Amino acid sequence: MPGELDETGSGLASDVVIVGGGVAGGALAVALTRRNIRVLMLEKSLEHQDRVRGEFMPPWGVEEAKKLGVFDVLLGAGGHFTKRAIPYGEDMSAEDAEARALELGKLLPDVEGAMTFGHPQVCQALNVAAVSAGATMLRGVGDLTVSAGRRPKAAFTHQGRRYEVSPRLIVGADGRGSATARQVGADVKFDASHHLLSGLLVDGVDAWPEQDQSIGVEGDITFYVFPQGGGRIRLYACYGHDQRGRFSGADSTRRFQEAFRLKSLPHAEVLSAARPIGPCHGYPSGDTWIDTPVVPGVVLIGDAAGHNDPTIGQGLSISLRDTRHVVEALTSNADWGESIFGAYVEERRERMRRLRFVAQLFSALRVEFTDDARARRRRALKRMGAEPRLALPFLATQKGPFSVPSEAFEQNAWDRLLN
Ligand SMILES: Cc1cc2nc3c(=O)[nH]c(=O)nc-3n(C[C@H](O)[C@H](O)[C@H](O)COP(=O)(O)OP(=O)(O)OC[C@H]3O[C@@H](n4cnc5c(N)ncnc54)[C@H](O)[C@@H]3O)c2cc1C
Repeated sequence: MPGELDETGSGLASDVVIVGGGVAGGALAVALTRRNIRVLMLEKSLEHQDRVRGEFMPPWGVEEAKKLGVFDVLLGAGGHFTKRAIPYGEDMSAEDAEARALELGKLLPDVEGAMTFGHPQVCQALNVAAVSAGATMLRGVGDLTVSAGRRPKAAFTHQGRRYEVSPRLIVGADGRGSATARQVGADVKFDASHHLLSGLLVDGVDAWPEQDQSIGVEGDITFYVFPQGGGRIRLYACYGHDQRGRFSGADSTRRFQEAFRLKSLPHAEVLSAARPIGPCHGYPSGDTWIDTPVVPGVVLIGDAAGHNDPTIGQGLSISLRDTRHVVEALTSNADWGESIFGAYVEERRERMRRLRFVAQLFSALRVEFTDDARARRRRALKRMGAEPRLALPFLATQKGPFSVPSEAFEQNAWDRLLN
């Protein structure tokens, strides 16, 4: 019977053990189980909670979800489409911003727009889909240690008992600061954080058009408004390290919402007075990366393999792309030696390099608040108007990192836009 345990783990026989049941681990469990590969998924939490994580997926992520076969699950978990990205903000009038809106449903064939959803709800729905397809999932798993090797091992505690399992492959999908990555000796690189990023989920905002999303700058914040349908909206704000503590401690939620009282943002009053329905958490910006997220018997995916700066909202799409690579490698090879992940390693390295470049470019352009930065922003807007290819790095965040020529991610592109 699936899920029945004994101390040697023989009741947990599987081909693949997945550590972490978030978006990456959950999507992989669904995709592999539906292809008759036996999966054991080990999740630390008893329940997925709002930890202020990704809830916006650009069109290229929606396309990945369709290719992977989990689109139905995302939609069933409340997936909502946004169709216009409107650049409200201090650099132009609301009318000009609306005239410049990017039509998100017209970027990729058969992709209706960008998708937003509740992160915990989507993780839970993926977990349920995986289990109903035949995966075994254990929640509340602790003291998990992974050892690499031709026959890798995972040892863990569940409900007070210790288990050890030895599948053909272990997938580390345990997110930022992955213990699996650390335990298998992955070389994690990181860049300096440019700014801070906080988020809050609010409800009851019927005034905001639910198919319009916005990212813009006013004063000393970069604001993000991502509607999820039914009056629910995920708000994020980026702000400088010099304002560390601005949205933390007691009363942080109220101070966060106050920051949305912006002149350039329609319905700002409604947003700042809306009902908060989750925690207000902040994180430093910045990328981490692992050049080779594969060792014998273990492969890392999603944030565990290194995360792109959340400022540009790519992590969910990256996770699904990683997942699709692993599914393809496992289903098209009988021998699961580490060489089958060669294409994944190569593609991911370049994908993350490109997205790292865009995150840094975006941060320099849209998350700096001095007079010089403001002047640079206005100059860059004009330059993009005159030479649209200068905007290609940003288009890549919607259409995918390989949808535009590689020159868009070179120093010359940076210099032409910013210097
Ligand atoms: C503030 C913020 C805003 C973001 N906004 C966006 C956005 O708009 N769009 C976007 O695409 N991305 C965004 N991201 C990034 C996105 O949330 C992540 O890239 C994505 O959640 C990665 O999924 P994952 O499954 O790899 O990791 P996670 O979502 O972190 O899931 C990891 C899972 O592993 C479990 N786990 C951890 N350790 C263990 C362990 N030792 N044993 C067992 N289980 C374990 C955790 O409980 C969790 O369920 C944002 C991130 C942040 C921080």
